[in-house]
Amino acid sequence: MASKSKENLDVESIKKYQKYDIKCPICKKQVKVGVELGDIKAVEHFPFTHIFLHGDPIHALVVYIDKQFNVRGFEGCNSMSLQKESSVFQQILRKWSNPF
Ligand SMILES: [Zn+2]
Repeated sequence: MASKSKENLDVESIKKYQKYDIKCPICKKQVKVGVELGDIKAVEHFPFTHIFLHGDPIHALVVYIDKQFNVRGFEGCNSMSLQKESSVFQQILRKWSNPF
């Protein structure tokens, strides 16, 4: 008889990312935003805020996600600044090599 243990795999450990298709209010483009589920689970207060930087000129899409991983709302943001330190740029590059 075949083992049924594979049916007990933790689905959430396989599904590492939650993906959203959102139309950015600034550039009017449909963008794909991926949030690591581990990041959502680590927060204690909802909605959870996720920021997606994109476009040229660069701007941000701010996404609010609830406990059920649904998008509660979103907004565009043109006002941003970056701390001019090499450690900040190194971390941005590290993020860049990540699929999300
Ligand atoms: Zn945009």
